[in-house]
Amino acid sequence: MSGARLSRDQRGRRPGGRLAGVRTSWHTVDDGDFFCPGCGGDRSYRRRTGRRRFVVLGVPLLSRGSVAPVLECAACRGHFGTEALDHPTTNRLSVLLRDAVHAIALTVLTAGGCDSRAAREAAVQTVRDAGYTACTEEQLLTLLSALAAERDATADSVTAEIELHEALAPLAPHLAAAGRESLLLHGAHIALADGPYCAPEREALAAVGRSLHLAEDDVDRLLAQARTPH
Ligand SMILES: [Zn+2]
Repeated sequence: MSGARLSRDQRGRRPGGRLAGVRTSWHTVDDGDFFCPGCGGDRSYRRRTGRRRFVVLGVPLLSRGSVAPVLECAACRGHFGTEALDHPTTNRLSVLLRDAVHAIALTVLTAGGCDSRAAREAAVQTVRDAGYTACTEEQLLTLLSALAAERDATADSVTAEIELHEALAPLAPHLAAAGRESLLLHGAHIALADGPYCAPEREALAAVGRSLHLAEDDVDRLLAQARTPH
């Protein structure tokens, strides 16, 4: 009976007591990390496929076909559909968030405020708070000039918006509205560090809002809200 064992859900209700029942034998096909919907955290999983067999007195008889592949959590041993992989792990989410804030800071600085010390400092602080603790003003400026040089050759604002979208799009579906709004507000505060929004900053923040699936009205409301001193 190597490798064969009863799956959890069948163990308690074998027809005919110990005489007969359907057993599923599981085989591991690969493994990785996922966010376990059962015990709620980043866990290792084994992706397993199973074959169901009708068993009498411990002897496997007829094949009852295969079962859909499952992810087995290493911590709680729960079985979940492979769609559980659509949800990023907490680790992955924090990397996405960090990258999103970084992209927003660069976008807003590029739009205006690059020459202002206050705006640069606000951008560095925001990026540090998001998790790039070693970020310096010099690094941001180096990145900005590299981006500017790269974009000179192409159509400026279109390229910038595509790059911004690439950083924000994978994250947006996993954030509640409040989370998406707070990302936009980070950008707004950087833009405001050197005075009222200029037109390119407004356009850049509107692009941030679009990539975060925020409605235009909400973007306007949030930008006005950011301008009011707390
Ligand atoms: Zn689990």
